[in-house]
Amino acid sequence: MNISILGAGAMGSLFGGLLAESGQQVTLLDINDRHLQAIHSRGLSLETDAGQRYVHGLGACRPEQASGQPDLLLVFTKTLHTDSALRSVAGHIGPQTWVLTLQNGLGNAETLSRHVPASRVVIGMTNWPADLLGPGQVRSHGLGEVRIMGLQGHDDGRVAQVAAVLDGAGLHCAVDREVWSAIWEKVAFNAALNSLCAASGCTVGQLDGAPEGLALARSIVLEVLAVAQAQGVAVDRQRCLDAVSYAIAHHRTHKPSMLQDVLAGRPTEIASINGEVLARARQAGIAVPHNETLLGLLRLIEARQRRRVPSL
Ligand code: NAD
Repeated sequence: MNISILGAGAMGSLFGGLLAESGQQVTLLDINDRHLQAIHSRGLSLETDAGQRYVHGLGACRPEQASGQPDLLLVFTKTLHTDSALRSVAGHIGPQTWVLTLQNGLGNAETLSRHVPASRVVIGMTNWPADLLGPGQVRSHGLGEVRIMGLQGHDDGRVAQVAAVLDGAGLHCAVDREVWSAIWEKVAFNAALNSLCAASGCTVGQLDGAPEGLALARSIVLEVLAVAQAQGVAVDRQRCLDAVSYAIAHHRTHKPSMLQDVLAGRPTEIASINGEVLARARQAGIAVPHNETLLGLLRLIEARQRRRVPSL
């Protein structure tokens, strides 16, 4: 399969590297020139449980330089950059190109559908972890999976083909009609841990430093799940609460990406996580005060970082 990856940071590089190793023809599209140059000069350094190696033969260029029209465009920018990234590859998306998002948060299907007919949009969820260690170097340890579904539910065999290609790269992928449940449950997890850590500066484990941390995390999860249920999405409350408790107990030093973004002075994905939850809650007439407060706090942090509010 001819695959382009739009946004080749941590996740895009991991998926791109594994897909290329499994024999697919992969092009990484990114605006990080140092990352692209490192891949050109020595290949992509990929570190997984299988060890560290260099992946060669990957195409890597800026989005506007992408040539041809791939069978699959896999979108892995941060959600706040999806729209502009897709605009920059408008000519690269052909009538046969399917577009897949495995990004976190809500609203990705709608964003993709503004650029591609909904009949060729594939949505999904992945819990593979990845970190970009430096230009041209990606690391991922542990196990994950990928679950995907055609946005319109029907499948002419292409979604299954995409799943088989990802699965063949060792990414443990399956077609799953219940993918919205997986997406919402991950949103609940991220809405609690990502935003609480980003607002408080705590690592995941430090959230149990005061009883209020655990109570807040639990309240945020329950609010998100209430909105999911109001939208007709089946979710498993206990599984979500257990996942949060497990992360706090076992991933104690982990800094979620939203905290890393705040520490680096970058804008976060708060809009597509707690922000989208609030928007959908309002449509459903449900109050989500904890999510709303976290959204407000992160908006203030981002505004201060843009220097709109001078530091004291
Ligand atoms: P990242 O910041 O490492 O990578 C994003 C990449 O997009 C960067 O390399 C950036 O240069 C590039 N980019 C930005 N604007 C662009 C544009 N206009 N055109 C092309 N490229 C552009 O982020 P990530 O950690 O890989 O996360 C990507 C998505 O996957 C997010 O939605 C995240 O929430 C989700 N996710 C991440 C993980 C993880 O462990 N990292 C796990 C599951 C899901």
